[in-house]
Amino acid sequence: MTKTERLKIILDYLDKIYDDPRCELFYETPFQLLVATILSAQCTDKQVNKVTPSLFAKYPTAYDMALADISDIEKLIYTTGFYKNKSKNILLASKMIVDDFDGILPNTLEDLVKLPGAGRKTANVVLGNAFNTAGIVVDTHMLRVSNRLGLTKLTDPVKVEFDLMKKIPKTSWTKFSHQMVLFGRYTCKAKKTDCHLCDLADGICGFYKENVKIELKRKK
Ligand code: SF4
Repeated sequence: MTKTERLKIILDYLDKIYDDPRCELFYETPFQLLVATILSAQCTDKQVNKVTPSLFAKYPTAYDMALADISDIEKLIYTTGFYKNKSKNILLASKMIVDDFDGILPNTLEDLVKLPGAGRKTANVVLGNAFNTAGIVVDTHMLRVSNRLGLTKLTDPVKVEFDLMKKIPKTSWTKFSHQMVLFGRYTCKAKKTDCHLCDLADGICGFYKENVKIELKRKK
């Protein structure tokens, strides 16, 4: 089987299991998506969604957030972890949006990565979901699953992003990012993979062949 045929099988399978994948974070504006994505570092989307309704009710825009007392932001986002650092970044990013971008969240990767707390991953989440601009989001799930499936051999997130950009059609970048995150979150999990539910176990997934299958044989 050629690499192109393998890739097609993987992409078709992802389309089959997630035909209309969406970002699971709650937000109403691009700015709110930025904040929710900053909060999602080292935290589940589910937990982020528990704190953002109160946070956005009190500080819905960059102007409101830029005037917030940092101790109040800390209190509201405490349960997402790393709350001191996240609060500082949210406050500084809001001030930068107000001072440098007239209160409007910029819509280019170059400008988004200037914001405190926003790396390429956060920028690509915002671009893909709020601005309909294609991007590959490399988070912990994308990193793990793309390696397991042999879509890349690299481990540095930025290098993986560029490697995948060469292989995945640009029109599918945002959808593919959602699909891989959902697949990694619910099936191809870090510790307990649900390979018995996965069509790619049979002849496509190198990780299954080299690790899971051998382990299953050993247990028999
Ligand atoms: S077979 Fe298992 S390890 Fe491979 S992609 Fe599927 S769930 Fe992940």
